Amino acid sequence: HAAKVAGVTVRRWDQALDERSTAFARLGAELRTALDSGQFHMVYQPIVEMPSGRVHAVEALVRWQHPVRGMVSPAEFIPVAEQNGLIVELGAWVLRTACLRLATWRAELGTDAPARVSVNVSAKQLARPGFAAFVASVLAATGLPASCLAVEVTETAVFEGGPAVTALHELKALGVRIALDDFGTGHSSLGLLQTVPVDTIKVDKSFVDDVTAAGRQAVIAETLIRLTDGLGLVAVAEGVETAEQAAALTRLGYRYLQGYLYGRPVADPDFARVPAAA
Ligand code: C2E
Ligand code: MG
Ligand code: MG
Ligand code: MG
Repeated sequence: HAAKVAGVTVRRWDQALDERSTAFARLGAELRTALDSGQFHMVYQPIVEMPSGRVHAVEALVRWQHPVRGMVSPAEFIPVAEQNGLIVELGAWVLRTACLRLATWRAELGTDAPARVSVNVSAKQLARPGFAAFVASVLAATGLPASCLAVEVTETAVFEGGPAVTALHELKALGVRIALDDFGTGHSSLGLLQTVPVDTIKVDKSFVDDVTAAGRQAVIAETLIRLTDGLGLVAVAEGVETAEQAAALTRLGYRYLQGYLYGRPVADPDFARVPAAA
């Protein structure tokens, strides 16, 4: 009887797995069509500098408006694109679009334009030979100075070293900034900060959520700002949603904050708007 119960359990699990991989494959096929028919667009979220509250930079985030499903989250389709290789083409489109956008803002707004656009780059893109040369060609084509671009990579993407880390050194040599995204949630190793040419650490939202309480998150958030200050790096706190969190982070010494409190990612942010003060 027990074996039969186990058998049923196993079969159900198999079926669920099967349905999931079918959905995964379908999404993968639809990504091709989406790229060809222009279903992607970019949105931009401010990263503000305290205490002025000025928009210092924007993070570029891709959106997929599916004709039937509606908005599909990048958390859902980026892993699929990484798996079927379309991330290379999608990532190239993302980079070109984001660089062109900031070049346009600079032309239109002058010194009111954000100083930098930060673009998420997946491990697969980064490790492909010629990635830095591709970035250089995009900068040349869009006329955006290299110092106006940052790439955001996860710790996990560079943890194993190899071509991904080589690419970061090449990008650094171009003058592009390097940010470690979701810091503290991946294959964290402080050794990375010695071997990878990092400029910015993006402190993950999970350390920001309860930063107002006297618990472990606040201790970690404080330790990370001390670490980045000591190393001469910049820290950005991600996922700031409340004025209380902003006040706590500012008290700890954070100068760069990003989150819904300052603006959701939108296609055309208003840089003149005065954000909520910390
Ligand atoms: P990420 O790079 O860590 O981006 C931050 C995510 O947190 C974004 O979700 C953003 O909309 C969300 N967020 C920002 N502030 C807040 C807040 O105050 N509260 C909450 N709850 N969320 C906030 P999004 O746009 O859904 O992107 C999810 C992830 O997908 C990104 O995480 C990034 O890893 C990936 N992604 C997005 N766009 C791209 C892209 O163009 N290329 C690549 N390779 N990955 C991308
Ligand atoms: Mg990011
Ligand atoms: Mg992030
Ligand atoms: Mg994150």
